[in-house]
Amino acid sequence: MFDLSGKTALVTGSGRGIGLVLARGLARAGARVALNDLDGDRIAPAREELRREGHETGAAAFDVTDSAAVREGLDRLEREFAPLDILINNAGIHRRAPLAEMPVEDWRLVIDTNLTSAFLVGQRAARGMIARGGGKIINICSLNCELPRPGIGNYSAAKGGLVLLTRSMTVEWARHNIQVNGIAPGYILTEMTRPLSEDPERNAWIVGRTPAGRWGRPEDLIGAAVFLASEASAFVNGQMIFVDGGMRVAL
Ligand code: NAP
Repeated sequence: MFDLSGKTALVTGSGRGIGLVLARGLARAGARVALNDLDGDRIAPAREELRREGHETGAAAFDVTDSAAVREGLDRLEREFAPLDILINNAGIHRRAPLAEMPVEDWRLVIDTNLTSAFLVGQRAARGMIARGGGKIINICSLNCELPRPGIGNYSAAKGGLVLLTRSMTVEWARHNIQVNGIAPGYILTEMTRPLSEDPERNAWIVGRTPAGRWGRPEDLIGAAVFLASEASAFVNGQMIFVDGGMRVAL
């Protein structure tokens, strides 16, 4: 049920961090995976890492916020690598500032990268999936889609929007045998969260506030991703799986 042999996947923002680990997880489950990042320089070492483990990957460097680049990138990938069965919309960024002082450029960049990107890549991928009779789309949200923190109002708004985009895609595309779901990670150790893990006070707050008593690792997200990418989730639609060590359910 969890075997992805014969399936082709694209993971956006997979030059490093959670995206690269999820790409490796899908590859180990049998999928052929294409990596995406802003530029090829980041993708090359990631591909080499996976190649050493015996996984041949595809590559598609493009900016997920640029609609023309998304269209060209997916056209080329589907022509030269393979049509997509699985899409993980993972690319995301932070620009932290209190809302009262946040420059509108930082607001727009975070909304574009974390929300509009999933619409652009999801729309292009879904057109092919509809024509071929099905597919899987997994949107990487965040615990902050429900629970905001000061300083990340742009990010919380984007991830909250991504929850409703996941449900909107579901109500339009489920009939085409496309299952659209999301994963909402808690605090996971990556470059993105380095400023938090290196701040002793924030680090202690995160570990103390997480019932599991630790930071998450990118590998903690693989199980949910393989489940949502596989036949095991054939009748799971519009859901958000929180992988957060229990933080969302604790006061
Ligand atoms: P990360 O280490 O900063 O990696 C993000 C990746 O996205 C990078 O490879 C980055 O490329 C790429 N990217 C950024 N903008 C892009 C664009 N316009 N086009 C294409 N690629 C782009 O972050 P992460 O921690 O792995 O986060 C991955 C996802 O998980 C994000 O959506 C994030 O919001 C979500 N998430 C993370 C956590 C956490 O605790 N880490 C928690 C909840 C949710 P460059 O390397 O070129 O910048």
